[in-house]
Amino acid sequence: MTVTAVGFLAFSFSKILKIVKLLKKPYALTNVGERLGMVLKVAGGQTKIMRFPIIGFLHALVFWGFLLITVGSAEMILDGISGTMFDSDFANDRVLSFLGIVYDFIIGGGDVFALIILVGVLIFLARRLFMNVKRFSGEELRHKDHKDAAISLTFILLLMITLLGMNAAYVAHANATAHEIEGVFPISLMLAGFITNISHENLHFIELTCWWAHVLLIFAFANYLPYSKHFHVFMSLPNVYLSRTEPLTKMNVMENVRKEVELMLNPNAPMPDDSGEPIRFGMKDVEDGSWKFYLDSLTCTQCGRCTSVCPANQTGKKLSPRKIVLDYRRRMEEKSGGLLKEGKTFSDGKSLIGNYTTAEELWACTTCNACAQECPVNIDQPSMILEMRRHLYLEESAAPSAVNAANTNIENNGAPWKYSAADRFNWAKNLKFADGTPVKVPLISEFTENNRPEYLFWVGSACSFDDRSMEISRNFTKILQFAGVSYACLGTEETDTGDLAKRSGNEFLFQMQAFANIEVLNSYGITKIVTCDPHDYNTLKNEYADLGGNYEVIHHSELISKLISEDKLKQTAAKFAGKTVTYHDPCYLGRGNSVYDAPRKSLSNYVSISEMQRNKSRALCCGAGGTQMFKEAEKGNMEVYEMRTDDALKTNANIIATACPYCMTMMRDGVKMKNREADIKVLDIAEIVAQSYGL
Ligand code: SF4
Ligand code: SF4
Repeated sequence: MTVTAVGFLAFSFSKILKIVKLLKKPYALTNVGERLGMVLKVAGGQTKIMRFPIIGFLHALVFWGFLLITVGSAEMILDGISGTMFDSDFANDRVLSFLGIVYDFIIGGGDVFALIILVGVLIFLARRLFMNVKRFSGEELRHKDHKDAAISLTFILLLMITLLGMNAAYVAHANATAHEIEGVFPISLMLAGFITNISHENLHFIELTCWWAHVLLIFAFANYLPYSKHFHVFMSLPNVYLSRTEPLTKMNVMENVRKEVELMLNPNAPMPDDSGEPIRFGMKDVEDGSWKFYLDSLTCTQCGRCTSVCPANQTGKKLSPRKIVLDYRRRMEEKSGGLLKEGKTFSDGKSLIGNYTTAEELWACTTCNACAQECPVNIDQPSMILEMRRHLYLEESAAPSAVNAANTNIENNGAPWKYSAADRFNWAKNLKFADGTPVKVPLISEFTENNRPEYLFWVGSACSFDDRSMEISRNFTKILQFAGVSYACLGTEETDTGDLAKRSGNEFLFQMQAFANIEVLNSYGITKIVTCDPHDYNTLKNEYADLGGNYEVIHHSELISKLISEDKLKQTAAKFAGKTVTYHDPCYLGRGNSVYDAPRKSLSNYVSISEMQRNKSRALCCGAGGTQMFKEAEKGNMEVYEMRTDDALKTNANIIATACPYCMTMMRDGVKMKNREADIKVLDIAEIVAQSYGL
């Protein structure tokens, strides 16, 4: 039976491996130490699952218990194979009993956890069957999925009942015949008290029956798992190990595009190898994805944590990140037979985009990464979405017209708006401190090679052109000047980073922008960059490195907080005395790059902060990212910024502080929509700090 069960399991896994081999590699699997640490933290420590504390802790107990019981179950199988299990007269020791105290720990721990898991599974079943938990529903969940969840939980329930039944019968049998008990059984010792009036033979019969049932259930469950939603029992550890180790908001570089762009910029660059399969840009169907997408889809537990935190989904749009993952799995189930037979050229006339996932869902994503942050098994939904957007943009020219227009503007003017590139430095004109002293913003070109400033202040498109956002760059410049920071700007030599182009799927334009900027930055020998724009911060810090631009990039909140620590900005609070501020975490700064404390530290010297209920890594997106700022939102029941403004208004703060020009625009729109412009101000942290000093 063991051979048959293992044989079937090997067959299931071999099919999966064949599909994995067909798909492309997502990234190099370096950083073994970091990956093992991630497994220990995310899987071993169950840190992400415990973000939902009560039910998360229960799940963690079930997980830890399962690990221990798996060792005990392996021993049970070995006892069966060796025959020690069938001794009715206790003639032979159990296979692993020589381990002494370790054996006692495995058996005793398994005995206790069996009861905990039993109770936990009953609660899980009750939640699924009788409680209306919102995240367990959704159009992507079919009747089969609900049945599957109930079947898997029933399997686990029966496994625990048979384990405790076997242990209790064994203990009662040993006690009745005055034999030594091997291992410790804290729970079963109590249970054995209820069955002392059963004959020795019958106790041994119950023990063996439970043992057979338990072992057969293990074999059946193990072979059911690869075809069920509970496959994460096998897959979660490897999937966490294989997941991305980079910041969440860093998006990968398209190597096939890079080769073409390099050739456009330098005709002497090596020609791309076009002898293989025709290049397809982005992901139209499952075979265009990486094997990580496939493993992600197999690992998904359908828990719905991702969808429950998705701003698009919460505001009634069609997008559900869980559906994106399940669509991939279902499409692969449908197509894998043909792919394995005929290779990647196989076609059944259908595709992932169109037949499963719609363009409407894909364009509703703000790339906020709340889904990836919350996923307990480190699934990367935004990368799947981006790959499909890349296909829509690059192969089908099927982006929303406003996104196309913003990309065209970047191509023509170096900014997503129709402003002339020559006006990029206009924000710095006539800049004065409050007392009328002029502020001259230095240009990097004015410095000699041996006398470069410490920081390059990267202004970014929004803070260069948008009237309201310009106030951020103007106020931050005053702070730099006031604190005596050595800095300079690129002026009109700066052009858009390509952040918007990348997130819309236009990797060609992104790389063109990136190469142009890197050339300028490297020509000035820039090593340190400071910026007020978290989107550019992310792009410059995380994405330019793949294309040859390696810089130490900091956000203006980090520099302000450093200046405070160094006593270069001394405490003055008069301007905002008595005011309460609530701080909105920008996704690209917080969740994307884990900058949570610096903005708070920058503010805490001058104002008191009242946190929104959803803050830091749980903060709701403002709704601007992932091209949303430049297009109409998809159909829903409210705007994302409206929902986030409601969060802010609940704190009763007088000021909503932001640290991103896009968040600033959205939160201002929200305040306007709520008719609260008269009593609520939206200010960037640079404005609050500068105004505190009367700059
Ligand atoms: S990145 Fe944000 S908007 Fe996009 S699917 Fe994930 S949670 Fe939803
Ligand atoms: S993708 Fe992750 S968070 Fe979303 S349903 Fe699947 S396992 Fe849960």
